[in-house]
Amino acid sequence: MAAETPARKTIPTPLRDGTLDAATLLEASQYGSPIRVLPEVNVVKVGGQSFFDRGRSAVWPLVEELARCAQSHQIILGMGGGTRSRHAYSIGLELGLPTGILAAIGASTALQNAHMMQMLMAKYGGILVSFEEFEKLPMYLRNGGIPIMVGMPPFHHWERPPEMGRIPANRTDAGVFLMAEFLGARSMIYVKDEDGLYTDDPKKNPDATFIPRITAQELLDMDPNDLVIERVVLGYLQKAHYVRSVQIVNGLKPGLLTRALAGEHVGTIIEAPLDP
Ligand code: ADP
Ligand code: MG
Repeated sequence: MAAETPARKTIPTPLRDGTLDAATLLEASQYGSPIRVLPEVNVVKVGGQSFFDRGRSAVWPLVEELARCAQSHQIILGMGGGTRSRHAYSIGLELGLPTGILAAIGASTALQNAHMMQMLMAKYGGILVSFEEFEKLPMYLRNGGIPIMVGMPPFHHWERPPEMGRIPANRTDAGVFLMAEFLGARSMIYVKDEDGLYTDDPKKNPDATFIPRITAQELLDMDPNDLVIERVVLGYLQKAHYVRSVQIVNGLKPGLLTRALAGEHVGTIIEAPLDP
């Protein structure tokens, strides 16, 4: 009779004996940097209210510019939700709805914009990619496609409780950032309707001054009343492995996105603290 092989009941790993929350265990189990999943990819967010809602005069030239850029760069587009998401949030808030359902509703207005953008970009290879198809991104990019995604992160009903109020804090700026970081993307560019970050909203305060470059921490310390990018992104930037800076560019000025993709500083760069 063959000797019995004892069954393997445990796998030796330093993670075995803890809760996965113990500080000492987390400290001891540093596995180094993760791989870059799609290191050549550039994630470009098209602002909803700031850009897409401006319609043909803003969007058609950007479509042409994106199509040209996609000939020499891998690009994934993330779409914002715009004014319709504000409308939906205000109705939902008035009805007493919790944050999670507001986040789900925000995703559906961004999906409307993703549908429209896909049609505009179809002849250049624009493909609407749902979260379920995320793993197919390499195939689409390899075939010269331009994946277009909903910017909202798929937290939906599981959206984290915000610091203040009930509006989801993780909206489309955060969603595209988290995707870019996961992918180990080459760059994260936000296309909006201003030259970048100012000391205050330039639409409301004519004395606001332009900030060409700033660290996330400096900006958090400044604590301005309003920002050109969602506040949570500043916290994510500080913890990110790969997306150590983002650039906000004015999409209403033709050519700036092209230059930003070429690595030029043409808007505001917000960066994590430089490594010591
Ligand atoms: P998106 O459409 O990409 O979600 P938002 O409309 O949410 O963009 O944010 C961009 C807008 O933020 C700009 O159009 C600008 O009017 C406003 N804004 C508020 N505070 C600032 C600031 N400190 N610097 C620049 N823009 C700001
Ligand atoms: Mg916004």
